[in-house]
Amino acid sequence: MPKGEIAVYIHVPFCKRRCRYCGFYSVTGVTSGLLEGYVETAVAEMQLWAKRLGPLRASSVYVGGGTPSLLAPSLVGRLLEGVNAYFPPQSGIEVSIEANPESASRSWLREIVRAGVNRVTFGVQTFEPRGLELLGRLHGPEEVEQAVTAAREAGIRSVGIDLIFGWPGQAADDWLLDLEKGVALDVDHISCYALSLDKGAPLEKMVASGVLFLPDEDVVADMMEMAMDLLEGAGLRQYEISNYALMGHQSMHNIHYWRQGEYIGIGPGAASFLSPCRMKNPEDLSSYMDEVASGVLPRETELRLNEEELFREWMILGLRTTEGISVEESRRRWGVDPGKFLGPLLEDLVRVGLLTVGRERIRLTRKGVLLSNLVFRELI
Ligand code: SF4
Repeated sequence: MPKGEIAVYIHVPFCKRRCRYCGFYSVTGVTSGLLEGYVETAVAEMQLWAKRLGPLRASSVYVGGGTPSLLAPSLVGRLLEGVNAYFPPQSGIEVSIEANPESASRSWLREIVRAGVNRVTFGVQTFEPRGLELLGRLHGPEEVEQAVTAAREAGIRSVGIDLIFGWPGQAADDWLLDLEKGVALDVDHISCYALSLDKGAPLEKMVASGVLFLPDEDVVADMMEMAMDLLEGAGLRQYEISNYALMGHQSMHNIHYWRQGEYIGIGPGAASFLSPCRMKNPEDLSSYMDEVASGVLPRETELRLNEEELFREWMILGLRTTEGISVEESRRRWGVDPGKFLGPLLEDLVRVGLLTVGRERIRLTRKGVLLSNLVFRELI
């Protein structure tokens, strides 16, 4: 059972239209009645969690999607009222929301600030019209600038954008331009994700059938290095494989995940972690709503990890961050010295230049960041 505090993730499983690369669960063609009903169900799920866990405070709140900016500000406010009622937070905690540039108007941004949101991330993905079209995004490049300006004017404390690199037809120069435009927006946070094509997504099928081609792996690695150099040069420090922030603007909610902190996930398909269990809600809106209405916490899967699995997961999550893992914390929390536990594997990873071992911390090297999947496969 967690003590004191818990992070709260709230999923908003609705999209205006499906993007071509995305395989996340979400529902299109929604009505305002469905959105209202969904928000009440999400608040009811919070109540069920509060009954199960007892008194806890929210340490951070993250409203993700889907497309949370499809919710009217009053509904965002209702979700945060739910958090205040069932997990009353200390004042000033981080409250984040994801938004799509085309659905985040000035008034929407102003009102969500009043409701308590202090961090917004816009799903930009690229500034290149050809890329936006290919990825199936609904906004144009000019709407990004308007949205970022409106977020600043609304008084959002941290404004960030997500970018995607490595899409079919994208050249290194296109990516450089995206990075430069991102920096020119003067945002506090930029996430850069290599395109991952979810199974069954239209783009995945087109790539699998040879209609479209992804850039070469070496080009994708070069793109990642371009992000590391250009963003660091602009003062946005890399603090995790895909995340860069100005000082004081890192996502505390995500850092909590990478420290293997506990959290509850509200909504269909949302994941929760209450050590030693990882749980997932059903990825289906109507079964999710039915289960909550019948007064039970919805559950599709529940996986209990043993001590060694938890420790290995802790190492992998920690190594995602540039601070890496602390040897002292490992001894205290797990009673294990990572060097002794990993033995020759650690020596091999150091010898090939993927890990660096200091007296206090173990981290990925720059080469290790580029090949992190390879390192993590070894550590599982
Ligand atoms: S990428 Fe985001 S906006 Fe696009 S379909 Fe997936 S969840 Fe919806």
